[in-house]
Amino acid sequence: MNQKTLLALAHEHGTPLFVVDHAELRKNYRLFKKHFPRVQAYYAVKVNSDPAIVETIYKLGGSFDVASMQEFHTVYRFIKQLPAKERQDFIWDKVIYANPIKPIETLRELDRYKPLVTYDNQEEVTKIAEHAPHAGLALRLRVPNTGSMVELSSKFGALPGEAVDLIAYAHDHGLTVEGLSFHVGSQCTNPENYIQAIHLSAGIFAEAESRGFKLQLLDIGGGFPAAYDASVPRFADLATRINHEINRLFPKEIEILAEPGRFLVASAGYAVSKVIGKAVREGKRCYYVNDGVYHTYSGVIFDHCPYPVKAFKKGPTEPSAVFGPTCDALDTIGLSEQLPDLQLGDYVYSENIGAYSAASSTHFNGFPPATVVHVNQE
Ligand code: PLP
Repeated sequence: MNQKTLLALAHEHGTPLFVVDHAELRKNYRLFKKHFPRVQAYYAVKVNSDPAIVETIYKLGGSFDVASMQEFHTVYRFIKQLPAKERQDFIWDKVIYANPIKPIETLRELDRYKPLVTYDNQEEVTKIAEHAPHAGLALRLRVPNTGSMVELSSKFGALPGEAVDLIAYAHDHGLTVEGLSFHVGSQCTNPENYIQAIHLSAGIFAEAESRGFKLQLLDIGGGFPAAYDASVPRFADLATRINHEINRLFPKEIEILAEPGRFLVASAGYAVSKVIGKAVREGKRCYYVNDGVYHTYSGVIFDHCPYPVKAFKKGPTEPSAVFGPTCDALDTIGLSEQLPDLQLGDYVYSENIGAYSAASSTHFNGFPPATVVHVNQE
């Protein structure tokens, strides 16, 4: 989206403004499908759970990774009107509840929908067997997350050495394990993480088969990186390597799933804010804007993701600090943003801010989240 359109939207809707470009969303989804023709793409709803985003993915024929009951219902809204059988088929074919730890209340509610759910330990098997016995299972493995921007392996995943025992344990509790899942860490720029995880999975498939458990699916999770800057490997190259290993190690009848989130929505989001205060501190220009890390820029904290702040105004730039509107010093968007001399009321913006941004915006300090505007919806 060009600067002119962003600025016009800011004038029309006011700031702070969070703009979602659905043309970009569709482009990213199609790009993913083009490079991963064998892979069923489950949009990871947590990354941006705005129903309009879910609707666009739904209309594209996408599938969904949900990780809470609320996310499940955000998706369910779109299939509620379908005849019962079609609705059930949709849930079974196109929804995965990919949170390895689920409250008992959630399992009880989920059971009637007979979904596919992930698990990674014995305690969870006992819970599922008792409260959601109709669910299908995917065992989440612990795999290397080396170099990924957001590490997940310290929190989830069965060790490869315990995997088949956990499959047997589920079987002994009357449950069916359909396959394996893993996550290489979010914004994974190291293809080796995928390669190692796929190798590990192939080994576990073979070991499981030798013990009488035939696995049907492999879920390669998320991790697909957004092109935040030139250092991010080309998506096409990453896909070629992953596809090569999958096709080499997994016969055609094995279903391959993925849970892309960031890759689909990051570049579809823009934040526009306004300078509400100015100061010079220790010789550095400091700008206070009406959006910050408690709001659309929450990814600075939770996602370890920097978002360069850009000005619409032209002119010589110098490194400047940009702070959010709250009273907390943590509310710092950046300390060395290259900006021209801005005046009160001037607008600034950030690109590539669609993932883990509005999703974790708060009302802290009495400042509400940014107004959300959707453009290019079909
Ligand atoms: N799947 C699961 C289980 C996740 O936990 C996450 C993110 O934390 C995702 C998918 C989305 O991954 P990404 O941010 O790499 O798109």
